[in-house]
Amino acid sequence: MTERTARGGTLIAGGGFAGAYVARYLGERGATIVSRENFMLFTPLLPEAASGTLEPRHVVVPLRLMCPHSELLLGSITGLNTEERKVTVDSADGPFQVVYERLVLSLGSIARTLPIPGLAEHGLGFKDLADAIALRNHVLGQLEAASAAVAESAVRHLTFVFVGAGYAGVEALAELSDLVSDAMRHYPELNGRPRRWVLVDAAPKILPEIPSRLGDYAAEQLTKRGIEIHVGTTLESIDSESALLSNGTRIPTATLVWTAGVRANPLLAQLGLPLDDRHRVRVDEMLRVEGHEDVWALGDCAAVPNLASPGLPDPPTSQHALRQARRLAKNLTGDAQPYRYRTLGQVATLGRYKGIAAVPGLRLTGFLGWFVTRTYHLFQLPLFSRKLRVVVDWTVALFFQRDIVELGMLGHPRGLGDE
Ligand SMILES: Cc1cc2nc3c(=O)[nH]c(=O)nc-3n(C[C@H](O)[C@H](O)[C@H](O)COP(=O)(O)OP(=O)(O)OC[C@H]3O[C@@H](n4cnc5c(N)ncnc54)[C@H](O)[C@@H]3O)c2cc1C
Repeated sequence: MTERTARGGTLIAGGGFAGAYVARYLGERGATIVSRENFMLFTPLLPEAASGTLEPRHVVVPLRLMCPHSELLLGSITGLNTEERKVTVDSADGPFQVVYERLVLSLGSIARTLPIPGLAEHGLGFKDLADAIALRNHVLGQLEAASAAVAESAVRHLTFVFVGAGYAGVEALAELSDLVSDAMRHYPELNGRPRRWVLVDAAPKILPEIPSRLGDYAAEQLTKRGIEIHVGTTLESIDSESALLSNGTRIPTATLVWTAGVRANPLLAQLGLPLDDRHRVRVDEMLRVEGHEDVWALGDCAAVPNLASPGLPDPPTSQHALRQARRLAKNLTGDAQPYRYRTLGQVATLGRYKGIAAVPGLRLTGFLGWFVTRTYHLFQLPLFSRKLRVVVDWTVALFFQRDIVELGMLGHPRGLGDE
């Protein structure tokens, strides 16, 4: 098998939030990034890509621009030999190995699913860009289906169920319900047809990770908009006709979006590394993998101890992945110190002009909360050119109606000769 050597001796496995930032902070020292995509997805803006406020291309950052001193090898990591310090990669051109001196594991997470009847067949995910675009096309497709359907089945097409009321679920629901409200003006035949948005979570309240007052405000805002919230409730089953909840409610629907948390990348279990009970790689406070001098891990795939919150490993957020990356890049370059980070705050949008922001000393809601959330995301987004594109998209969205074309065929061209 062909062998390559990692640039500067550092191999970064996974070019998401954590990996891309480690490479960026390593600067001219360089690194080799192995990732499945040639971009980093800026997930905080994913709900807006789903609703069409932002162009999908504008919520991703090309790795070659973000980390100009690093080498990018596109492919999937399939194996690790820590004795020989080699990683095996499957690429479009066949498998190869990369020899490293230092390995950084930033392989992220996948959606955490449960063995609920029908979920794998009928549930829609919301984890990456493909999910967001598929969801947008699906929702617009439901409006078309409702418009062509008889009254009884229109109800099913106009009912949207979201399971999981963390940030991703709440923000995606809020954005998509705005999209549907805006799109409705183009479907006069659906005037007066009831639309139903349902948010379900097993926890006793929505957005459990933010301060109670803000969570209550979010629940109040969503309820005011007619969104049904079922807390302390789970999904029992789903089929092509309806979803059944644990409180006995059966909801006729053709859309069930599953946003009930994440779990560490299952590949980690095959790499022979120490894992915790949630299948995350165990690392010490320097972010070094336990028992491995030359392997580090961070982001959603690692259980990272934080000196600022003893006993509580960091939650899977980009905010933490970014701070861990900054610390790790320093640890790799000689200025080794334990990781410590106190959360600055939490922000979320609730659709157009509504948001919540908990920043030190302040709890902001409504327009101010929305403005602070957007400004924070813009500030966090790497590259001036990306920031500019996002600002242009937001400005255009202020003055023009939303685009309602359903482009589900993109990426699936008909073969030559197909009918
Ligand atoms: C919809 C959504 C909204 C979110 N919103 C927020 C928010 O508002 N604020 C916030 O702080 N956090 C948010 N998060 C969480 C945040 O996105 C994650 O915590 C963050 O992306 C973790 O970074 P990571 O690098 O560990 O993982 P990821 O960013 O997922 O990156 C993992 C990378 O590894 C690559 N990879 C995986 N397997 C392989 C393989 N075998 N070979 C090669 N490459 C591989 C993947 O392709 C990916 O590029 C959100 C998450 C989602 C899903």
